[in-house]
Amino acid sequence: MRFTFVTLFPEIVEGYFGASILGRALEAGHIAIDYRNPRDYSASRYKKVDEPMIGGGAGMLMSPQPLHDTLKELRSQSPKAHVIFLSPVGKPFRQNDAKRLAGKEHLVLVAGRYEGIDERIIELHADEIFSVGDAVLTGGELPAMMVCDAVSRLLPGVLGNQESLEVESFEASLLEAPSFTKPDEFEKKRAISEFLKGNHSKIAAIKNRMALCKTKYFRPDLYQRAKAKV
Ligand code: SAM
Repeated sequence: MRFTFVTLFPEIVEGYFGASILGRALEAGHIAIDYRNPRDYSASRYKKVDEPMIGGGAGMLMSPQPLHDTLKELRSQSPKAHVIFLSPVGKPFRQNDAKRLAGKEHLVLVAGRYEGIDERIIELHADEIFSVGDAVLTGGELPAMMVCDAVSRLLPGVLGNQESLEVESFEASLLEAPSFTKPDEFEKKRAISEFLKGNHSKIAAIKNRMALCKTKYFRPDLYQRAKAKV
């Protein structure tokens, strides 16, 4: 699967995909990543990419022409490109979106900077707009990396153990149950004793109960959804 990051700062993104699981996925060809910098498309003499807001307002906006030309070229070269803008005003990005997007051939992730992007560019080019949480970041690179990461790990061959996907948080609208590793006791805190005994159906039942409790406490919204499903 191909990902294109549209960003003024490709160097922020590059390092993340050079290491660990996604670095190996890239090397093995499970994912391909490329970059377009709107600055390279700027028609202005000094490669300007921002302008003050019309009607006043603090800060600058990413101006339409460089982004429009970047996205027009991408779309003409890759007609199946699915263009996603990252913005605090988008819909919340969820695991179900990651699953759906894993079926696409080519995702284009547009990262805003400054005070955001001229609205007309979003209207012209966005297939979807996602927010990654109710907090404002300085740029869309981290949100775009989040989307790329969440989608990539669902692709065949990317994770060593596909089974781990089945018991993760957000499956069946639940958070994952607490997990433990060695040693059995750490700082006077013991791992759940039943987990040490190896009775898998019992462990599964306990984990299910704990997942419900954890979800009810931390995410009552998800808990209501999980309850509605049973
Ligand atoms: N003025 C904008 C607002 O109040 O909605 C915030 C702009 S923010 C400083 C600059 C860029 O960061 C945005 O264009 C977007 O790409 C990205 N960004 C910031 N927070 C985000 C979030 N929670 N989810 C997705 N993208 C975000």
